[in-house]
Amino acid sequence: MNRNVLVLSEMKGFQIRNVSIEGLAAAKKAAGEGKVVTAAVGSKAEQHANLLSQYGADQIYIVQNKELDEYHPDLYFQAYVQLIHEINPDVIIMGHTGNGRDIAPRLAARFDYGLIGDCIDIDVDCDNKVVLTRSVYSGKLFEKKRFTGDKGIITIRPNNIAPVENPGRGEIVPFTIEEAPLRTLIKDIVRKAADTVDLSEAKVIVSGGRGVKSARGFTLLKELADVLNGAVGASRGACDAEYCDYALQIGQTGKVVTPDLYIACGISGAIQHVAGMSNSKVIVAINKDPEAPIFDIADFGIVGDLFEIVPVLIKEFSNALLSPAK
Ligand SMILES: Cc1cc2nc3c(=O)[nH]c(=O)nc-3n(C[C@H](O)[C@H](O)[C@H](O)COP(=O)(O)OP(=O)(O)OC[C@H]3O[C@@H](n4cnc5c(N)ncnc54)[C@H](O)[C@@H]3O)c2cc1C
Repeated sequence: MNRNVLVLSEMKGFQIRNVSIEGLAAAKKAAGEGKVVTAAVGSKAEQHANLLSQYGADQIYIVQNKELDEYHPDLYFQAYVQLIHEINPDVIIMGHTGNGRDIAPRLAARFDYGLIGDCIDIDVDCDNKVVLTRSVYSGKLFEKKRFTGDKGIITIRPNNIAPVENPGRGEIVPFTIEEAPLRTLIKDIVRKAADTVDLSEAKVIVSGGRGVKSARGFTLLKELADVLNGAVGASRGACDAEYCDYALQIGQTGKVVTPDLYIACGISGAIQHVAGMSNSKVIVAINKDPEAPIFDIADFGIVGDLFEIVPVLIKEFSNALLSPAK
């Protein structure tokens, strides 16, 4: 069976989020010989058509509308409902982001689609059904799921499905939405970390725990993160101690992240923290206690005082990144 798959592309600022590009790779797998369609919304939507085409979109719906520059639950819902009526996809894919988590269940309820969320892999089985892999029990097990019906919505966890370049000549389809009265109004948007790399999509995360000892200690971690073009994360211990904002918390009750490199500084490795980062590709732990549980899951461990080690890392990485490639 060939499926038509719709990827609802998401913007951060005026950039397409990586997870939407990863969504196109997932869509390609699910579609088989079917069509991969995507939709980009906002006043700069058209600028992204080439990128979306380069990563495998056969058709790109452009909803050029300034009102959609910021996520608005009602307005986005209206736009997506109209797109779905128009495209009639078998499968819809979106990022497991704040927006995705908000709107996917509403769309599933509206169209009576199944919903499988927070997927880290996608495949098609011998019955030609889409099979999704999810990480459960804090990353200790993987489960495979499929829809009982023919239609479904999938949200994918950022940084898990590799983007695949698949240059084609995606057809651009301008699409105008009919706006109905809104039931809610956004008065203000307060951004806590506007100038930093997005934690959920970061390739490198430098994370601090109670061992960082102060908000000032976190500026050292930020310095290392900046050198590596990464983001700063934190344990709940550090957030509770008010060294940083809860927006940075990683773990069971914080964000789940899967960067290429996770550097844990002064974090003991409590199970609730590990739940949010154990699927990182490479884990480096810096802790002065050689018995700290974080070393059980670390690929590389440095036993010592983070205030001595992190400055050395900053210096070494800066030198390495500045020196010309041999
Ligand atoms: C329901 C529930 C949900 C929770 N959810 C989360 C969650 O989402 N995320 C989360 O992180 N936690 C969560 N927790 C809390 C969790 O159990 C731990 O309390 C917390 O992760 C501990 O944070 P920490 O490792 O920073 O602090 P600590 O456990 O106090 O560890 C500090 C570490 O720093 C090391 N250290 C100290 N000084 C230095 C130094 N100078 N150099 C190097 N190392 C040093 C110490 O050896 C120690 O290992 C949750 C708890 C509960 C009950």
